[in-house]
Formats: sequence, C-alpha cells, structure tokens
Amino acid sequence: MAESSIRRRPVPQRNPLDDAQSKVLTDRFRQILSTKRMTELSTRSVLSRSGSPAPSRDFSSPIPSRQPSNASPPSYTSLRNIPLVPTEPKDAKSLRFKNMLHSLSNMPVKWENPGLLDEALLSVPLEQIYNEAEEESQVLQAEAESLGNGKKAAWGYQDCVVRALLRWFKRSFFQWVNNPACGKCGCPTIGVGMAAPNPDEQARGAAQVELYKCSYEQCQEYERFPRYTDAFVLLQTRRGRVGEWANCFGMLCRAVGSRVRWVWNSDDHVWIEVYSLHRKRWVHIDPCEEAWDKPRLYTEGWNKKLGYCIAFSADGAMDVTRRYVRNPSLHANERSRAPEAVVLFIMDEIRAMRRQNLAKQEKFRLEGEDMRENRELRQLVVSSITAEVCKMFPDALYQNSSRSDPDAQKAAEARQNEAAERIRRRAEGGHGNPNPQNPHDQGRH
Ligand SMILES: [Zn+2]
Repeated sequence: MAESSIRRRPVPQRNPLDDAQSKVLTDRFRQILSTKRMTELSTRSVLSRSGSPAPSRDFSSPIPSRQPSNASPPSYTSLRNIPLVPTEPKDAKSLRFKNMLHSLSNMPVKWENPGLLDEALLSVPLEQIYNEAEEESQVLQAEAESLGNGKKAAWGYQDCVVRALLRWFKRSFFQWVNNPACGKCGCPTIGVGMAAPNPDEQARGAAQVELYKCSYEQCQEYERFPRYTDAFVLLQTRRGRVGEWANCFGMLCRAVGSRVRWVWNSDDHVWIEVYSLHRKRWVHIDPCEEAWDKPRLYTEGWNKKLGYCIAFSADGAMDVTRRYVRNPSLHANERSRAPEAVVLFIMDEIRAMRRQNLAKQEKFRLEGEDMRENRELRQLVVSSITAEVCKMFPDALYQNSSRSDPDAQKAAEARQNEAAERIRRRAEGGHGNPNPQNPHDQGRH
C-alpha cells in the first residue's frame, strides 16, 4: 500500500479562476484521487472489492453502552508496559470481549470502497478545501522558515487538507441531534421509545429507530430517528450523535486519501485518528468538537476516566489508551473485560486478520510502524509521569540551585535526570505505583 497522501497540488494561480476552469480543476482532483485509490486498492487484496459495503446489521449501535462495574480491581498493567505474553482468551468473559472487538474492528473496513468513496467526494466542496489547505500550509511553512534553524512546518499539506475538511464538516455539513425537531411543524419533540425499522430504513442499514413525538398539542406528529451505521447513508442524512459523526467523518478522511483509524472507547465515546505523513504519527481528531491533535481533551479537558481506547484501521488494530490517558492514577478507568495479556492477543489476532493478504514487505513495514508507535506511547506516559514528579517536588529540584551557580544547577539537573530514570525504570518494570497521586494537581482544568 502506498502512503496515501494525495500529491501536493501546484501553487494556485493568483488570478481568480472562472467557474468553468474551477470545475475542470475539481474534476481533475477527483480523477487523481479516484485513480490513486484504485491503484492502492488493487495492490491490496485485503478487502472485497465487489459491491457496496454490507449494511451493518451485525451491530446496531457503534458504541456499546458501558458495562456495569466489575468487582475485580482495575488493572493498568498494559499502561505500565510489563512485557506480557499474549494469551489466548479462554473464559466466557474474555471471549465476549474478543467477539466484540472483532465486530467493532469492521467499522473502518466498510469505508474501503473506491466507488462509494468517489461518490462521497461529490458531497465535499473540494475546491474550497484544497484552497484553504494550500493557504494554511503556506502560512505554516512561512512560520517555520521565519524561525530558522531548518525548522519544519508544524503540519504538512495533507494534514491541512484534513483540517479544512474538519472545519467544513463541523461548521457546514453535519448536524448534531439530540431530539430531532418535528418534521411537520418544527417544534421540539419528546422521546417515546424505540420503533421497528420500516423496510426503507432497514434497506439503508438502520437496525434501531428512535421514536419521538411532537410537543405541540395541535400537531402530535411522530418523528423517527433511524440510527444509521453506514457512512455512505450518513452522507445523505447528515445528522446524528457521536457515532454517526465519527463514522461519516472517518470515511471522508479516507475519501480525501488519508489513512484513517476509528477509535472505540469503552466509556461511550468514539473518535478518529489520521496518519500524518509529515509528523510520522497518528493524530487525534474529534469531529464533534472540531478537535485536532488534542488527545488530552477527554481526561484533562473533560475530567473523564477512560478504560480502553482501541484504534482500528483497514490494516491494523492498536490499543492506544496511553495516548489519551497520560496520568493513569487520575484518569484511568478500570480495564476488567479481559486480562491484559488477552487484550494483547486479541490485538495481534485482529492485526493478523487484516494483514493476511498483504505482501510480506508491506506487513513488515506495518510491523515497524507498530513498534515505533509503541515506543511513542511508552514515551508519552514516561514524560507525563516525570512532569508530575517534578511538580510534586519543585523545591527538591530547584531550591538550592541558584541560577548563578552552575555547579548547583548541574547537581539539580542530575537529580532530575536520576528521578526521571527511576520513573522510567519503574514504568517499564511495572513495580510499585508509577503515578503517585499529586495533591497539587487538582483542578488543573
Ligand atoms: Zn409538530
């Protein structure tokens, strides 16, 4: 599989394009994207190319509701990176979790339909998005150059394409729905339960339909809210809650040529990651929040605890919880659905399944990428713990180190490095609590 950034567009002409010209250009981009996608997909037989993606009747709601708390104590071993031996799930509970993860892992695979992705782009104002991306990437480039020292721009062109797509999607395209307004009079509605999908809704893949009743006395019409799980259907309905948002936006990121992940979270949330070729790492995106690269949003921003954050793509699966939970002692939710060694096994299993038809070289490349990401995730936790400890003992680190005294300063630095090293060893060895509660850390946000 080729890296899927689209080719950098030539610098736009300064004279304004007339309509005909811009249409020709837009058509050409569509063509380039389409051809690129076909080439990409024909080189990987991992996916069925026939027909449209099957309507998803296998799991109606993309976000299973939170399971009741389990009596066993929370286990954060995977966060601590104890080398675990992947272990096959045997007990009923682990097997349930395995089946659930396998089922969830299908979501991004359903996006891999070149014909439908081409069609999806017809809903996107590509010309506007490419212009915005071009402009932003030039600004970032100029900023980097002004800093000198061969500084690299913060984001690359394809990142800027996805950022522009995100702005458009959130501001002009997709609509958030709690209770849908009455279709007849526009008044607010009240939820009255669930209804069976009618044949049309069923044909479009809705397994669940929420039913609402108009609150206006003279109207009393019923309003249906089918929960569609087919990203291509969502292009027409253009509304929903977090599941619909992530599903439709993830598909559109794929349509503009990015590598995409669908991230499932066990605490009732779901979001997207896109691979940045420029930064050589996965970038968090929450389309509902128009959030780009803000992985601490849920924990430090919303003060939520997160259990599992599992990223699925068409060619892999990864437990990315450490990207989102930097301080496990404050923000880790319990992970009791299966032993950590079993979770590793399930991840390996899904990865192997997604890659079974890939060329050896491609598999090798993806494995390298997984290893780099694991290193990155480990590093995130280690630096976060180090920062916590430095906040806990600022006096010990700095009290005696007068800035004018290089020796004292050096000693303080050595102590700091030593502390960091101790924490790193502990985080990697998994002994003791890696994250002492920090009383000074309350109410940071
Ligand atoms: Zn009404």
